[in-house]
Amino acid sequence: MSMSAGCPRCSAPVAELTLGPDVDWSCPEHGSVVPLWRPSEASYDAFAEHLKTASSFPTYLPWPMSPGWTVTDFAVVGDGADRTRATMTCSSGTSELDGPVDVLVVTEEAGTGLGARCAGTRHDDPGVGEGPPTVRVRIESVQVPLWPVSTSGQPGEWDRSVVVGEAHGRWLWIVLRPASAILLLQDDWILRDVSRLGPPLVETPFGGPPPPW
Ligand SMILES: [Zn+2]
Repeated sequence: MSMSAGCPRCSAPVAELTLGPDVDWSCPEHGSVVPLWRPSEASYDAFAEHLKTASSFPTYLPWPMSPGWTVTDFAVVGDGADRTRATMTCSSGTSELDGPVDVLVVTEEAGTGLGARCAGTRHDDPGVGEGPPTVRVRIESVQVPLWPVSTSGQPGEWDRSVVVGEAHGRWLWIVLRPASAILLLQDDWILRDVSRLGPPLVETPFGGPPPPW
């Protein structure tokens, strides 16, 4: 596998423990974890491997990708076909107003902690649903309302905007850097589950500097 294993919640290296037929992954900080798999570099081949690891779990990208934008990073939390817990992608490009922009999209089962790590928030699962949503994105024909998540008091609190909602019974996080890039998010923005995309994926550009997370 060209992807390396890590902890979903932090950047500490994980240890692989083989117990009979089972493999357990252990983080010095978080104990036994379902591993996070991340490529050393975003490429088409590594993404094909990512989709295979994620199996039937969705992987979302903003769609269609704007000209000049590339997929700069992705990750999957899982240890086999039926235990995928989360996926993440980052697409990066530039906007006239914001300069370089990163858009991270995480979908995860409750309690995984990857979304909170990417968003830099304290709690694994966000509390949402108060007041009107910031935006409604579209996944297939379904509108998904997303609410703002405060990063106040966290390191780098002003460098990003975070919105979160629920799609297909999982958390959906979108993290935008810089914070002003939230204005790029419009109602009817489309997220495409690229796990079933097929041939058009070949056209998707990969590479470029990955975001910090
Ligand atoms: Zn950890």
